[in-house]
Amino acid sequence: MHARKPLVVGNWKMNGLKASASEFGRMVEGYGAGLRHRVQLVVCPPVTLLSTFAVIALGSRVGIGAQDCHPGTHGAHTGDISAEMIADTGAAFVIVGHSERRIAHRESDADARGKVKAVHHAGLIAILCVGETAEERKAGLALQVIDGQLEGSLPEGLTGDDLVVAYEPVWAIGTGVTPSLSDIAEMHAHIRLRLVERFGEEGGRIHILYGGSVKPSNASDILAISDVNGALVGGASLKAADFLGIASAY
Ligand code: PEP
Repeated sequence: MHARKPLVVGNWKMNGLKASASEFGRMVEGYGAGLRHRVQLVVCPPVTLLSTFAVIALGSRVGIGAQDCHPGTHGAHTGDISAEMIADTGAAFVIVGHSERRIAHRESDADARGKVKAVHHAGLIAILCVGETAEERKAGLALQVIDGQLEGSLPEGLTGDDLVVAYEPVWAIGTGVTPSLSDIAEMHAHIRLRLVERFGEEGGRIHILYGGSVKPSNASDILAISDVNGALVGGASLKAADFLGIASAY
């Protein structure tokens, strides 16, 4: 049995300007009004808004996260941001290995491993994304692909307390299509098994989030599945009504 509060994370991707602070403010308000005791909420805006959102979230228990980081701590890496810099904004989470980065920036499991390590050293929590493509699922390779990604992306020395895993089938992201509830259940049970093998008892407490076209209308069915300990939400996390609607499934 998973003892921690379920976790609902919003990934704003490359969306949001200073004016979006009011939408985020509505999320913080709505969360405080009824959800705070049932679910943990995290929003990952673009880096330009991290500090602003961290200030708005002060005292609310809404967490802030970044969407990526560099594996190093500092140096000649034009345009990159270190995990230490993210921690400095007041954020507590970093998404690592999102499929959009794996595809558009050709990030490998080894890259993800370096980033998870950096996040761990900065005292933050990594939200590691894993997920198979449509072709891999059709070929019956989904479980095998996730095993490879987990093995390749988790560094030595990591503890279960520093980690959240998000299962995000690539073909379900932004498409409106989701796997069947039984396919989600099968994958989450499989990931749980691997986490317990790797981290022992601690592995039983790691949040395993489902991500890919979660919206208010399908959230209760998906979030009721055993070993689905929350959701990673893209498009539907941009509007307070949708995002809080999803979190209200708990
Ligand atoms: C995501 O990109 O992490 C995601 C889950 O996107 P969406 O909810 O829009 O499918």
